[in-house]
Amino acid sequence: MFEILSRELSKEKLFDELLSIVYEQGYSSEQISLLTQAYELARESHQGQIRKSGEEYITHPIKVTILLTQLQVDIHTLCAGLLHDVLEDTECAEETIKKTFGEQTLLLVQGVTKLSKIKFQSQRENQAENFRKLVLAIAEDVRVLIIKLADRMHNIHTLKHLNEEKQKRIARETVEIFAPLANRFGLNFFKWRLEDIAFKYLEPEAYKDIEKIVSENRKTREHYLGKIQKLIEDKVYLVTPNVEVTGRVKHFYSIYNKLKRLNSDEIFDLLALRVIVNKESQCYEVLGIIHDLFKPLPGRFKDYIALPKTNGYSSLHTTVIGPDKKIVEIQIRTPEMHHIAEYGIAAHWKYKESGESVKTRSQYDNSISSLKQKLLTLQNELPDVDEYNEAIKIDLFSDEIFAFSPKGDVFPLPRGATPIDFAYHVHTEIGDKCIGAKVNNRQVTLSTQLKNGDIVQIQTAKNATPSPDWINIAKSNSTRSRIKQWFKKNCRDEYIITGLARVTELVGGKAAYDELNRDNAFDKLAEVLSLKDKDDVFLRLGVGEITHSQVIGRLRNLGYFQKEQESFRAIAAANKQEKQEEAQITELKEFKHSFAKCCHPLPGEDIKGIIVKTKGIVIHKADCSNISNLPEERFMPISWDNAQTEKIFSVAIEIECMDRVGITRDIFDKIAQHKVNITDMRNFKSEQTGMSILRLNVEINSIQTLDKMLTSICSLSDVMRANRLFNN
Ligand code: MN
Repeated sequence: MFEILSRELSKEKLFDELLSIVYEQGYSSEQISLLTQAYELARESHQGQIRKSGEEYITHPIKVTILLTQLQVDIHTLCAGLLHDVLEDTECAEETIKKTFGEQTLLLVQGVTKLSKIKFQSQRENQAENFRKLVLAIAEDVRVLIIKLADRMHNIHTLKHLNEEKQKRIARETVEIFAPLANRFGLNFFKWRLEDIAFKYLEPEAYKDIEKIVSENRKTREHYLGKIQKLIEDKVYLVTPNVEVTGRVKHFYSIYNKLKRLNSDEIFDLLALRVIVNKESQCYEVLGIIHDLFKPLPGRFKDYIALPKTNGYSSLHTTVIGPDKKIVEIQIRTPEMHHIAEYGIAAHWKYKESGESVKTRSQYDNSISSLKQKLLTLQNELPDVDEYNEAIKIDLFSDEIFAFSPKGDVFPLPRGATPIDFAYHVHTEIGDKCIGAKVNNRQVTLSTQLKNGDIVQIQTAKNATPSPDWINIAKSNSTRSRIKQWFKKNCRDEYIITGLARVTELVGGKAAYDELNRDNAFDKLAEVLSLKDKDDVFLRLGVGEITHSQVIGRLRNLGYFQKEQESFRAIAAANKQEKQEEAQITELKEFKHSFAKCCHPLPGEDIKGIIVKTKGIVIHKADCSNISNLPEERFMPISWDNAQTEKIFSVAIEIECMDRVGITRDIFDKIAQHKVNITDMRNFKSEQTGMSILRLNVEINSIQTLDKMLTSICSLSDVMRANRLFNN
């Protein structure tokens, strides 16, 4: 397909080629006649114009349109492909296009014309503005981008006719702007080839080197891949006869980037295979077979089926050690995934005109209109675009925003990012010394959420240092880890002390700590966590890089805890419980008994005892729904001796609150005021309300304490509700 782009053919031959493709693709005769009219208008308009290659200008739009047919686009896009340069380069009037081809085609041509006028390599100050224009033009209709990419694809195939300066400029713009945009929309059909050709002009030497290596090894590589292919096929045939295993040469530009990243000359994974099977479930079966045949490299397996990329790409990726210890990259996918991998957003256009598949068509319409909507929303700077996220699969700029420096440099940041993130993205040094920020020339707090297109100015002071609060304020993980890095470096001792205190508490007190320490438990812990020494363990726990459960879990794995017991504290608590239990409920003194896990009855609450054969008496809350249907004879009337005891009971509570900075700390303060201990915490976002939900396990000694504590949490601003959770 691509080779037609660099072949010199007459306009008649080319147009014949185009016609035969559209006939084959089943466009109606009216559509084809419209296309012919577009060709005639374009030919007349470009009459007398010559390309740098010496060819007639009209051959360019025909080639662009031939490329467009590969994406199964609609007839308006094809007509616009033929007409894409007439507004900019010829006398042809907008009215003329509108009259014959309609509003839609005109808008497409206007869109492409607008895009072409943006000069990306111009002054630095204009970069931000240019980027905005680009986004807006695409927002109006994503087909504009498709036409522009096809246009660029042909132009880059004919770069050799331009002078070196122009070659470099266009090649750079292609790699920096258009290939990433193609990637955004999953249009690998354009992306790889654009990059490879641009690369040839940007780094001619490196390109030649890679070309040489790739061709030198071709024979051995193909032979080797053939061998593996056979091994895989033989096994996979047992699962399904519909399997296609193909070797593939990796794209030069990606090889180049990998070499640059790894700082090596060894192209270790030139060897790449693709396996295509019919069904999604078979992808996993094939993965199992491959991992059975060859040892997988750890950390290289990626499941893009369960978690597709934002541009819709899905596949399984793995890297294995093949025969002779050679490393082979393998992709596993279905034909549909493959189609989406190539054509991304355009993958759903296939049935657009013929109406064969209503579902596909409405999917397409949805994704386009949502995309449009989303981008227009960005334009209006409305913060709430979340609702669109769910609606579309192929999603543009969904989890990213773009903020700008006053100089116009663009910084992509995660949605919800704050000036702190921005500062650290500019430079760690800037982040560490940040004292304030202006957004769009207005002074803001550092916790302000940035919006798309914001221009952010960071204020710094020479002697400033980061604040620990920033860890909560920062949105991106990389920012957080940089802040932690600073504290780790500059406040090492304090964090070791904090970490040590936490460990001591976790294992159940000083005595337990000393005993473990005598057994070298913490040195061993450092070893299994791949840390330097036990101080390093405490430091990282103090900074929050490793978690409580990691510490306890690893200690347990090392054999320092018995299986059933949660922690030393749990053991301590259990001992305490045994001693006081008898005094709690007099009626139960003589009986084996336990507390129900479903309702966690608290001292002071109405309770009932249920006689359970294997467990003795189980104590439930009187109104627990799990016991409401049980026959009367199984109940035993009981009551607490005292409303408050020294025994602690584990209770789950749930808090719904706004996701504002510092709210967790406020809640924890309230809980601490009631001298209540938190043993577990989970935090997530409610899908219905978008609010933050905190689920905590707390240790409570009476229902009164719990009630008081919940009331005081509720009194916090931004807390919607706080209540006890039951397991039933
Ligand atoms: Mn053009």
